[in-house]
Amino acid sequence: MKGSVHLFKIWGINIDIHITFLLLPLIFGFHYGLRGVFIIFFVFFCVTIHELMHSLQAKRFGIRVEQIILLPIGGMASLRKMPDNPKEEFIVAISGPLFNIIFALIFFYPLYTLLGPEDFFHPSLDTWARTFAYAFWINPLLAFFNLLPAFPMDGGRILRAFLAQRMNYKKATHIAVQLGHLFAILFIFFGIRYNHLLLIVIAFFVYFAASQEGAQVDLRMVLKRFFVRDILNPNFISISPQTTINEILGLIFHTHQEDFPVVEGENLVGFLPRGEIICALHQKERNVTASEIMRREFPVVRLDHSLYDVHMKLESSALRAIPVVDEGKLRGIVTMEDVGRIYGLVIDQRR
Ligand SMILES: [Zn+2]
Repeated sequence: MKGSVHLFKIWGINIDIHITFLLLPLIFGFHYGLRGVFIIFFVFFCVTIHELMHSLQAKRFGIRVEQIILLPIGGMASLRKMPDNPKEEFIVAISGPLFNIIFALIFFYPLYTLLGPEDFFHPSLDTWARTFAYAFWINPLLAFFNLLPAFPMDGGRILRAFLAQRMNYKKATHIAVQLGHLFAILFIFFGIRYNHLLLIVIAFFVYFAASQEGAQVDLRMVLKRFFVRDILNPNFISISPQTTINEILGLIFHTHQEDFPVVEGENLVGFLPRGEIICALHQKERNVTASEIMRREFPVVRLDHSLYDVHMKLESSALRAIPVVDEGKLRGIVTMEDVGRIYGLVIDQRR
């Protein structure tokens, strides 16, 4: 994400922080001194563990997690996708808030006895005792907020997983999206009523993120109905390992194709995506051949794969096109534009 700084890597997951989050310790430090800085870092710690719990469960179900990004309004684990299976989605969604709940359960009694009810129930940044109470209450608060039964909160996913057992997935999603919109409107109302700017900012985020969840499911429903064989263009160009970058540039200019399967005889030996071609052109080595810059490892799809499968493979590989191989033979390529075009057609028809 633009404007984020890399902090460290744990279990193969990059932990990044948005630069606006780096301003918070400064602002809080200025206003509340060391206690202000402590509380920001503590929030940061709790949010990171919360997101890591989601990520670890997601990884268990074979979902790649590349990055956790910490934003001022909370963390975000960038899962390439959510599990399609409601039971798995439930486990991934609950694991984050569960950490906050367990933390609160473990520390409730010890902190209560240590600080005494007077400080424990009056969290603030005025004294260290009350700052620790503040740190404690952050966890139940995070759990409560995240468990609101509406998209994009974890509770929205839990609700959908629950509803999806009783009705179709699309309808279940629609309800969680509508609830997301409702909560956003409530947040705006309370934000204005109690003069709470952050709540209004969160409301906008919740509103748009909820809509996005709905659009994502629409996309999936539409794309699952079409298969690679339905849309495959039989006219495509493949190149040989000896083709030079200059010749490839000529092909790009004369056709619409920008990604090329590389074949030797009948065999697909590589794939040369647009990104690699541009990279080679930048280095101005006009005699480079396809074999020097092509990818030797790349995903492929079959004719009976759905366009949703294609979409997911494109997303997770960050490619714009993917070769189609069936019964050991190269059949063509499908591109992001192909997928987008079909989706656009279906959505326009519905209007
Ligand atoms: Zn969460």
